[in-house]
Amino acid sequence: MDRLEENLRAVRARIADAARAAGRDPGGVRLLAVSKTWPAEDVRAMAALGQREFAENRVQELAGKAADLMADPPPGVDPGELVWHLVGQLQRNKAAAAVRLGAVVHSVDRAPLALALARAAQTEQRVLDVYVQVDLGGPPGRDGARGGVPPAEVPALADTVAGSEGLRLQGLMAVAPRGEDPAPAFARLAAVAARVRADHPDARELSAGMSADLEAAVTAGATVVRVGTALFGSRALASDRDE
Ligand SMILES: *Cc1c(COP(=O)(O)O)cnc(C)c1O
Repeated sequence: MDRLEENLRAVRARIADAARAAGRDPGGVRLLAVSKTWPAEDVRAMAALGQREFAENRVQELAGKAADLMADPPPGVDPGELVWHLVGQLQRNKAAAAVRLGAVVHSVDRAPLALALARAAQTEQRVLDVYVQVDLGGPPGRDGARGGVPPAEVPALADTVAGSEGLRLQGLMAVAPRGEDPAPAFARLAAVAARVRADHPDARELSAGMSADLEAAVTAGATVVRVGTALFGSRALASDRDE
């Protein structure tokens, strides 16, 4: 079996095992393949294996790979079936580009960004699926930022998104704090999600869990897990290959 095929099987098995252990239907958890830093040929290989949802953290990189797959899809795969997600911090001036790509945006963490996305969606006469990103704490990321809105501010931002023409609130997204047990953080996330769902019953999605902590996220109710390393390999290797 090829390496990517083996990885995909193993990740699907981890998701299914975690769902069953939590008394959940394994079909209730979707897998996003986070292809950031990996070339379009690896996305093409994953698509050939049946994977349909991909995530990137930069608009530019997403645009490049989506165009590549559109022009040269794997045999038998309709590129229109591929769903692209943006999971990285988004600048307001990239809102229109994200909307034109039809990407699902997981990182809405402030009202001005929500409003910029809504305006762009109205201009393009599209409806954009978005998640509100929750800050679960912990040290900042490499770029000094972490992304996300504090839990206490989530309901207000969710109201803003839900009230914006052109946006459809899917639910919440979060990254577990680095260097901590993810379970309590995901439990806090689940509590905020329940609150949001009480006001917005259609916002059912919970995007949480990555290569290292997807089991804890599924236990806490994740409906979407975002997995990069366990599918494609270490990103350090991806950048080595570019050099
Ligand atoms: C890179 C990234 C992932 C995937 O992380 P892995 O540990 O490689 O699985 C998931 N979510 C976000 C927001 C990311 O930036």
